[in-house]
Amino acid sequence: ALMITDECINCDVCEPECPNGAIYQGDEIYEIDPDKCTECVGHFDEPQCQQVCPVDCIPMNPDVVETKEQLMEKFVRLTSQK
Ligand code: SF4
Ligand code: SF4
Repeated sequence: ALMITDECINCDVCEPECPNGAIYQGDEIYEIDPDKCTECVGHFDEPQCQQVCPVDCIPMNPDVVETKEQLMEKFVRLTSQK
């Protein structure tokens, strides 16, 4: 999963780009729900939020490192819930 750092300027452009609805407005900045972030695996070749963030504040979440296979499993789980 990816994460949003405190450099976030609350510009709001990433939230609508997330195909999994993983991005939400937190108490002070935007946040990513790691249970919903597939790093865009299953939807896009590149993480969409990273592509649009004007201040480049969306790195990998070091606490939630996953393989492509795990990310694909998460994608399948999320899409079958809908
Ligand atoms: Fe959403 Fe993709 Fe960003 Fe993860 S990497 S938060 S799935 S847009
Ligand atoms: Fe924050 Fe970047 Fe998202 Fe804008 S695009 S709300 S700066 S994480």
